Amino acid sequence: MTDTSPVLMLMKRPDLFGLEGLGERYSLQSEPGPGIAVALTGGNEGIDAATIDACPDLKLIAVCAVGYDKVDVEYAKARGIAVTNTPDVLTDDVADLALALMLSVFRKIPHYDQYVREGRWASEGTPGLSRSLTGRRIGILGLGRIGLAIAERVRPIAGEIAYHSRSPKAGAEWRYEADPVALAQWAEVLVVAVAGGGGTKGLVGKAVIEALGPEGVLINIARGSVVDEEALVEALVSGKLGGAGLDVFADEPHVPEALFGLESVVLLPHQGSATRETRAQMAKLAIDNIEAYLGGKPLLTPV
Ligand code: NAP
Repeated sequence: MTDTSPVLMLMKRPDLFGLEGLGERYSLQSEPGPGIAVALTGGNEGIDAATIDACPDLKLIAVCAVGYDKVDVEYAKARGIAVTNTPDVLTDDVADLALALMLSVFRKIPHYDQYVREGRWASEGTPGLSRSLTGRRIGILGLGRIGLAIAERVRPIAGEIAYHSRSPKAGAEWRYEADPVALAQWAEVLVVAVAGGGGTKGLVGKAVIEALGPEGVLINIARGSVVDEEALVEALVSGKLGGAGLDVFADEPHVPEALFGLESVVLLPHQGSATRETRAQMAKLAIDNIEAYLGGKPLLTPV
């Protein structure tokens, strides 16, 4: 079905969501302006207050991501504009990737892969030892949808699991820590799964990083803004923190080069939800929200 409603298209890589044909369905606009009721954007792109202001008729911002930290939601709501996101459909893939990062750091998988490819196994012999993930104390910072899925995945291998959110979660069987520093002090692995945005900016600061310590490992699949990146780099380079598995960074796509040479660190280019299956589901949910709005029906996943 073709709908002539203009849609402000802010996603930079619609092809990575299977949305390259969307122009056949809607009249896609690349610039804000009057007459546009719907904006479609991604988690990285978001939409700022100036762009919202430049669309006086805007009624819906559909975010094709679960994280909406790059959307000025308060401002949008004050202007009577609804915001939708794509929760749940990406939870499994992001949780899988968190587990993959843990295994990659502890078992040095990327490092050893490179060792083989460079011919060093043959020339230098068997490399040194890695560390076990099984039996570790795993702390989860942010027991939301993804945090919970991570807890479920590590349940069979973790020694113990504990978590911190702003409040204990009803029905959660894991031990609650009221303070992120106390959680980091206890944990051998700290997995960051909180929402991004102003409320969590720098939540993982120097104190949390140093509490995790020289044997500890930080995994971040949430948002780069949650971690004090300067403190993280300093701690990893100086050995005050044992290792890190990072999918997200403060200033993507720029990653601190000081990390490039560290064996203890695994770096990914923000791949949490980036599978064909999940991206297709995210795109479908974002479009279903737009269709619900255009059809005068209740939004499926309002923020
Ligand atoms: P969610 O269900 O809303 O969970 C977010 C959790 O953060 C909640 O448990 C919340 O608990 C906690 N939280 C929020 N503010 C906090 C604070 N100040 N201190 C401690 N905990 C806080 O969201 P989700 O679906 O699990 O997604 C989590 C985040 O993952 C997203 O917001 C997004 O940024 C990120 N993500 C990354 C990728 C990737 O590609 N790497 C993909 C998808 C999502 P309380 O309210 O009890 O504090």
